[in-house]
Amino acid sequence: MSDQSTNGGNGLERPVAQTDGAGGGDAPALVDPFGRRITYLRVSVTDRCDFRCVYCMSEHMTFLPRRDLLTLEELDRLCSVFVARGVRKLRITGGEPLVRRNVMWLFRALARHLESGALDELTVTTNGSQLPKYADELAALGVKRINVSLDTLDEETFRAITRWGRLSQVMAGLDAAEKAGLAIKINMVALKGVNEHEIEDMLRFAHGRGMDLTLIETMPMGEIDGDRRDQYLPLSTVRSRLAERWTLTDIPYKTGGPARYVEVEETGGRLGFITPLSHNFCESCNRVRLTCTGQLYMCLGQEGRADLRAPLRASESDGLLEAAIEEAIARKPKGHDFVIDRVARAPAVPRHMSVTGG
Ligand code: SAM
Ligand code: SF4
Repeated sequence: MSDQSTNGGNGLERPVAQTDGAGGGDAPALVDPFGRRITYLRVSVTDRCDFRCVYCMSEHMTFLPRRDLLTLEELDRLCSVFVARGVRKLRITGGEPLVRRNVMWLFRALARHLESGALDELTVTTNGSQLPKYADELAALGVKRINVSLDTLDEETFRAITRWGRLSQVMAGLDAAEKAGLAIKINMVALKGVNEHEIEDMLRFAHGRGMDLTLIETMPMGEIDGDRRDQYLPLSTVRSRLAERWTLTDIPYKTGGPARYVEVEETGGRLGFITPLSHNFCESCNRVRLTCTGQLYMCLGQEGRADLRAPLRASESDGLLEAAIEEAIARKPKGHDFVIDRVARAPAVPRHMSVTGG
């Protein structure tokens, strides 16, 4: 397991509740220049991972030096300031969040905001490999739903996509999460010529086990070893193909994220589409993203960011930090600039998805 050391908690004790005003304070909400209220924070707690998915990372990645990482206490403090300012949903992601050492300390700390009612939802996006170890505790802490990334049900294709992963690890993770009572959404990146023929099987698998399925288009983020134009499969094509054999009805179901959902009549299950490239999903964007070094990205598809680590470390009170957050939200752009360029191979944004966590 690729651990990351932190000078965070010892993983044994529950953190002491802090008087941070979360949920009950008078602090004004965070509203961007387009009137969008920021209620959803995604936090990447590590850029490292035990897999090397072909669309996400190159095989030999250079990861951030450990000394640049925020400690778990600092991540907790930052998240708590956002909660005090009106964030109602926190998603812990990565890299693979569950390989960060003592990551459960952070979940235990953040769970106090669920208990106080300041937070509606604490959730996680994971490749599933560590769920046999952590699913029970996540559920006990109040995590209700998780996203598990799974692109194929075929052992060989799984190895080809993840390079370092084994399908059986993820299957054991799904079993553990199900047993713990967690609602599961499968995220499947649709890849041309790789897993596009498996989408219907995945639909039967997920819905057969009472899980939602969301399909994702590849996004042009970070250098990878191959050419993304070879992988890109527009979900508009996938949807029309599916509609020839399945009855898809648009439904207003929302999870706070960018997916648009249909109900599949034949299975009774939900199918989501995340289409950053073929459909602009920005107008209702309520999200910002924090990296494990304290950089706040106001848009997944743009470079604009604010450093929150310096104001966090400059003072024990949160005044500087709040001012930096307000300044950042005032710069949140209207939308992204993703285009899978037909000519150039350069990614639209140079950072990998594992930096901001998708
Ligand atoms: N390691 C965890 C996982 O795989 O679920 C969390 C982090 S991962 C970066 C979050 C999600 O982003 C995964 O569902 C993954 O499939 C997706 N992803 C990664 N790179 C992507 C890309 N270039 N385009 C679209 N989705 C991507
Ligand atoms: Fe790791 Fe998730 Fe990226 Fe795959 S998609 S390499 S599991 S961070």
